[in-house]
Amino acid sequence: RAIPVHDLLEGVVERFQLQAAKQELSLRVHLPQRREVCVHGDEDMVNRVLDNVLSNALKYTPPGGRIDVRADVAAQHVTFIISDTGIGIPPEDLPHVFERFYRVEKGRSRRGGGTGLGLALAREMVERMGGEIRMESELQRGTTVYVTLRRAEEDAA
Ligand code: ATP
Ligand code: MG
Repeated sequence: RAIPVHDLLEGVVERFQLQAAKQELSLRVHLPQRREVCVHGDEDMVNRVLDNVLSNALKYTPPGGRIDVRADVAAQHVTFIISDTGIGIPPEDLPHVFERFYRVEKGRSRRGGGTGLGLALAREMVERMGGEIRMESELQRGTTVYVTLRRAEEDAA
């Protein structure tokens, strides 16, 4: 199915806006110029992936921080980019964060807790849709997650 990128971005930001405000985080969305751009995938799954990534951004970013959500549109693919100014991930942990039950614990508060499944599930869903998810992070500076899905030709209804 073809899902409009605009709707996905607006939806995910809407779902987290209140929580972000409560945590004194600035959550901003940057919508692509072309409203008709779509991705291939299961709408429910894409939303669950974006929710998992956004929930991490909120959980691991201290008050006063900032979260940006955007989409990079290419000829064949669309990459959702979620960046935060949070605590970041140590380089030695970064290769493992997509493993089931893996959590970085060194020197961080366990506020919110978690099971360490969010990213493992996100990767599973993204791969089932033929896409790719990767992460860049710098300790004490922030984290950026890239979710790439196949672009669909169809216009939004
Ligand atoms: P769950 O998602 O199951 O509630 P979780 O958030 O701990 O628990 P994942 O979402 O799989 O688990 O993330 C794995 C680990 O990667 C986290 O425990 C955290 O240490 C680290 N992590 C993930 N996203 C971020 C982020 N945006 N900033 C800093 N650390 C992160
Ligand atoms: Mg999580």
